[in-house]
Amino acid sequence: MIPFNKPFLHGKELVYIAQAVATGKISGDGLFTEKCHSYFESKFGFKKALLTTSCTDALEMAAILLNIKQGDEVIAPSYTFVSTVNAFILRGAKIIFADSCKDNPNIDPDEIERLVNHKTKAIVVVHYAGIACDMDRINQIAASRNIPIIEDAAQAIDSFHNGRPLGSLGLLGAFSFHETKNIIAGEGGMLAINDEKLFQRAEIIREKGTNRSAFFRGEVDKYGWVDVGSSFLPSDITAAYLFAQLENIENIQLRRRTIWNRYLSHFSSKLIEFGVRMAEIPAFATNNAHMFYLVTNTLEERTGLISYLKKHEINAVFHYQSLHQSVFAKKTGDVRKLENCERFSDCLVRLPLYYDLTDEQVDIVANRVIEYFNK
Ligand SMILES: *Cc1c(COP(=O)(O)O)cnc(C)c1O
Repeated sequence: MIPFNKPFLHGKELVYIAQAVATGKISGDGLFTEKCHSYFESKFGFKKALLTTSCTDALEMAAILLNIKQGDEVIAPSYTFVSTVNAFILRGAKIIFADSCKDNPNIDPDEIERLVNHKTKAIVVVHYAGIACDMDRINQIAASRNIPIIEDAAQAIDSFHNGRPLGSLGLLGAFSFHETKNIIAGEGGMLAINDEKLFQRAEIIREKGTNRSAFFRGEVDKYGWVDVGSSFLPSDITAAYLFAQLENIENIQLRRRTIWNRYLSHFSSKLIEFGVRMAEIPAFATNNAHMFYLVTNTLEERTGLISYLKKHEINAVFHYQSLHQSVFAKKTGDVRKLENCERFSDCLVRLPLYYDLTDEQVDIVANRVIEYFNK
């Protein structure tokens, strides 16, 4: 069976975990957490990086930092993971779902333009498959109205928009190190904070609403409860695993891109004639090879493809029920039709892509896909 995803060790993960234990401190903000923070800040230039237990938690921190409250509107794509919007729902916001672009699942800037109004308190973008949204246009819409942008960069580590790292283009960027992402730690995440004015409060929110981080740096002589907050910081064991991966990021990304390009070279001439589409990388974006997806013509065609692959011991998956059509959103009375994201919900399929996937396995998967369409 070729699984859809497989977590991997790259080298020193287990060594670093043992080292973390040997330091005598495996709770949050230990040696390896510090190493990860410095890495992210120096390599990607995030003004401040704070590890979290997940991208979900990073998004929840973002919603608290922005003081999102009852009645505020937040614009977000409908074609995304639930956490993108749950974080804001938890603060009482009303989510205004935006459709995807026609040609790719990213949020359509025209939709944002149509939906913004005086109640809009944030715009959340998702760089789907690690491929940048049209940030020039989105920034323009947001900046002229002074609305903060939150980047759900869960899939977007080490990917860029006109040379700038994703996660650094909005006010806040949320990353995931879940085992299905490029760089993994089991469960894990990070909040990139791109405005110094938010640094201190972000640390406090992450440390249960206390100024414990400042205390550990010796800036205050005792720590106490100063704000709302929760426990958003991961164990140093998680950070140790993550740091071993970060040390090898070039290698990991190179392997993923090789796999991605191998799929593409199989498909580029053979699938177009069947009307099947693949990701295109806009001139302003890079490809971090987070995902290789196909867009079929119909739901039936996709269902057939997934079961054909399953029959041949290959696990391909679809994802994202459009959130505006979810049971939860229906309860809030959202009845709009969003054509593009509904099509991606019906027709998008993801092929296996993980570090240890071999060239031979890529060929097997690609040949079975082509075989299915030729039948
Ligand atoms: C994976 C993912 C998340 C959630 O990440 P966790 O670290 O599992 O909380 C959120 N948004 C998007 C777009 C994702 O792909």
